[in-house]
Amino acid sequence: TAQLIDGLKLAHSLRAAMRERARQLEEDGVKPGLAVVLVGADPASAVYVRNKLRACSECGIASRQHLLPAETSEAQVLQLIAQLNEDDSVHGILVQLPLPPHIDVRRVIESIAVDKDVDGFHLYNVGALVIGQSVFPPCTPYGVQLLLDTTGIDVAGKNAVVVGASNIVGKPMALMLLQREATVSICHARTRDLAQYTILADILIVAAGKPGLITGPMVKRGAVVIDVGINRLADGRIVGDVDFDSVRERAAWLTPVPGGVGPMTVTMLMENTLRSAHRAAMQHAPA
Ligand code: NAD
Repeated sequence: TAQLIDGLKLAHSLRAAMRERARQLEEDGVKPGLAVVLVGADPASAVYVRNKLRACSECGIASRQHLLPAETSEAQVLQLIAQLNEDDSVHGILVQLPLPPHIDVRRVIESIAVDKDVDGFHLYNVGALVIGQSVFPPCTPYGVQLLLDTTGIDVAGKNAVVVGASNIVGKPMALMLLQREATVSICHARTRDLAQYTILADILIVAAGKPGLITGPMVKRGAVVIDVGINRLADGRIVGDVDFDSVRERAAWLTPVPGGVGPMTVTMLMENTLRSAHRAAMQHAPA
């Protein structure tokens, strides 16, 4: 049976170290700061924002939230971001998605200063990731990468299969694995015979949003399986995309849901914010 990869434990230890780094930065005259922009009252988004703000206080990062009504115009959002871009106390700007339909998401993301884009969604940062020069890797795949590292397995030359091809998880995940010289396949909803790919995976990353999508017989014996999915069942239970019991029999390593990837995502947002603050401190440091 697979060993479980404890994302909660790793997230806690990383955050403890970040607290120390934040303290050091503050001593050097730069208090790390994150601005979170939320437009509208989507309940799931409100929960995510609350989690991010809590993580900030846990890590010693100053946070501020800009809660805007759903009818806020795109121009007003762009104006706020322009202000935050200029504000030296803000090192990271996070616009919680989704935005209301009357706002052009791409225009908003592209208005964020590249060196404050701690989600890594700006086209510049996407391009930087493609050529292996990423400064702010997107938080979820970045967290997965650190979870993989805890297994001690060298990714180079391994068969890595990513199930899911979204811009925020699947695609950047595949690029990061490619950067580390895995042989990468990307599967998605139109893939024919998913099992034909997954069975070859030494490293299987699943981010489809479909409970029970991956079952034991689809998994290579001894594989590392990372379950990014978060699904709420009718009975209220939270499960991933992996059928935990049957996959645990086949895999060597497996992340639980909850307690796997989830806590790491917010932690990597803190990492990116600290990194941005660190860069700001370097710029202000006397030569
Ligand atoms: P998305 O809906 O944007 O993309 C889903 C992807 O999965 C698409 O590429 C789609 O083609 C593919 N897919 C759907 N059904 C499939 C199937 N039957 N077989 C193969 N591929 C299939 O979702 P997303 O934003 O990438 O999120 C994916 C999952 O990860 C969701 O459950 C989401 O809640 C979760 N998530 C978790 C975290 C975290 O921090 N743990 C962060 C982001 C997303």
